[in-house]
Amino acid sequence: MRFFESKGHKILPSASLIPVNDPSILWTAAGMVPFKPFFTGAAKPEYTRVTTCQKCIRTPDIESVGRTARHHTFFEMLGNFSFGDYFKESAIPWAWEFVTGHLKLPADKLWVTIYLDDDEAFDIWHKVVGVPADRIVRLDKDTNFWEIGVGPCGPCSEIYVDLGPERGCGSPGCGVGCDCDRYLEIWNLVFIQFFKDEEGNYSPLASKGIDTGFGLERVASVLQGVPSNFDTDLLREIMDFTAGLFGLKYGLEEKIDVALKVIADHCRAITFAITDGALPSNEGRGYVIRRLLRRAVRFGRLLGIQDLFLYKVAGAVVRQMSKAYPELAQRQDHVLRVIRTEEERFGETLSQGTEMLNRLMDEAKSGGSTIISGAEAFKLYDTYGFPLELTREMAEEQGLSVDTGGFAGAMENQRRRARNARQETEYISERNTLFKEMREEIGESNFVGYDTLEAGAI
Ligand code: ATP
Ligand code: MG
Ligand code: MG
Ligand code: MG
Repeated sequence: MRFFESKGHKILPSASLIPVNDPSILWTAAGMVPFKPFFTGAAKPEYTRVTTCQKCIRTPDIESVGRTARHHTFFEMLGNFSFGDYFKESAIPWAWEFVTGHLKLPADKLWVTIYLDDDEAFDIWHKVVGVPADRIVRLDKDTNFWEIGVGPCGPCSEIYVDLGPERGCGSPGCGVGCDCDRYLEIWNLVFIQFFKDEEGNYSPLASKGIDTGFGLERVASVLQGVPSNFDTDLLREIMDFTAGLFGLKYGLEEKIDVALKVIADHCRAITFAITDGALPSNEGRGYVIRRLLRRAVRFGRLLGIQDLFLYKVAGAVVRQMSKAYPELAQRQDHVLRVIRTEEERFGETLSQGTEMLNRLMDEAKSGGSTIISGAEAFKLYDTYGFPLELTREMAEEQGLSVDTGGFAGAMENQRRRARNARQETEYISERNTLFKEMREEIGESNFVGYDTLEAGAI
């Protein structure tokens, strides 16, 4: 951030993980989220050049955690932003200067991507910065064009580090953009230059902007020369703490390593999210917390851990990160209490639920089926607190799948029943109020309706 400060940027603190005034998203998933109104023009920024280190949560990446070397549900995204100030001509050379000059990453290991027809970006990378043309790859809309519905949008350009063939998947088509771990995407530069209207037409914006995202854990893994984000000091400390609690060691057995990674990742996510005001529940943000927490507890069980442990790991997260994020230490008591309570609650039903699921899976298998019905998955959810995804993952481990459509149907039925029950209660209390008012008006002795009704007329 000091680097961008030297280029005239204002350093701003990370915003909350819970987006402010934006009901369209559950979490802050990128550095640009707090600045959306400046890109849409809905608000005027105080500074036109800003740099941040933003806490992010990305739940869609949950199942990649521990499977790839580079995905977390919680991570820190560094970024520099321009609101109608500089554009590609500065953003590209600065990114290169930072990566090669400041971080000293070897230029011959770096690759660059641009959007298909973004010749302007190509010329800057090639002619101004000097990246060889055969290291600049043109990728399509899937990865290299940023847009969310109607509004400002534009092409992207990314920087990748080639970590060597030994890290690759070995398939003949393996190259930049392959999903394996050889080419590591470290930085995404978004050039906000169009406005997309309701009809899907793109028109040039008068005031262009820059939005970039640079993954801290990924860059740390490259700088520290370790095989994954989890082997950096950021995550290792937490994994070693967890391993130490149970007399285990990281790096000896794949199954143990994956569990330690998942626990460390999910525990960081819930610790930060609860610090920012989220609480476990059955809906929206709270459901995400619940799902992450329960998933972490289950991975603990896979390690043979029966005791409460997650709140202790959360303590390690607070100790490690509170220098950078003092709010963690300030709310530590509350956060650890919430985690402990939720862990206790889930622990009480986890064994029974697992038993029930094992029975269901045995029955399905012996009946020649590969499916757990939606109604059964819903019962596990409703009675034992198993998030659907947990049931699905546990079933997948045994080669079975879950009827998620049936689950949604069962959930909807229950909602409808709850809604009807609620309406009835509201109706009763409304009538009671009405009769109470009438009684007050008419006088106690003349009024018999209230008691008659109370006694069971409704
Ligand atoms: P990938 O293709 O590897 O999933 P992405 O294209 O989804 O990454 P962006 O949306 O471009 O990522 O985010 C900007 C940067 O944030 C990435 O270049 C990367 O360094 C970092 N990043 C994105 N997702 C994650 C994650 N789940 N965990 C850690 N870092 C991430
Ligand atoms: Mg991604
Ligand atoms: Mg990508
Ligand atoms: Mg990207």
